Amino acid sequence: MNAFPLFNAEGKRVGVFACGNCRKVYETECTAALCCEPTVCPCGVVAPRYRILCEACTSAALEQRQQRVWDDARKLPAVESSGPVWNEDTDEFHDSFDSFWDSWEDEADERDPDATPPRVFACEPFGTVLDAERILEHALEDHHEDAISGIDDGAVAQLQQQLDGWAREHGPTSWHPNYDIAIIWDSRKSEGT
Ligand SMILES: [Zn+2]
Ligand SMILES: [Zn+2]
Repeated sequence: MNAFPLFNAEGKRVGVFACGNCRKVYETECTAALCCEPTVCPCGVVAPRYRILCEACTSAALEQRQQRVWDDARKLPAVESSGPVWNEDTDEFHDSFDSFWDSWEDEADERDPDATPPRVFACEPFGTVLDAERILEHALEDHHEDAISGIDDGAVAQLQQQLDGWAREHGPTSWHPNYDIAIIWDSRKSEGT
């Protein structure tokens, strides 16, 4: 924005240019001119700094993307759902569809009755993974450089087996959304359950 050339003490151009707004220096006049120049979103509104789209278009694009994920997902009726579910709107996990439903009902009074119901997805568990090789690498950090090569593959496999057993028995399990399974629950609503 309002780029200007820089001069040395003798008044000679040094061949670089600065942005007239923030004074950042650029190699070419063109890039200096673009600096601090507002980006206009294709819709005509000025976009926030460092962004291509305005806020409205950004959220419209996000909504479109999320809708596509939903459209592509296999649809599972809520009555058939078992296990935790995830509410996309609130980014909340619920132990079961019923527990999501309870919170949905609880908040009914505060909700705009015309608001689109949130997309709800099934979840999949991820357990604890303990990687024998990485654990050994970490444990042997202060040893001589190729200390790890002194442990034969069989011994590493044995440790891995023991770690797997431990992880199965004691490692925590968490959940993340499974975007392949969308829970259909408007039907459930009409059943009045
Ligand atoms: Zn600038
Ligand atoms: Zn826009």
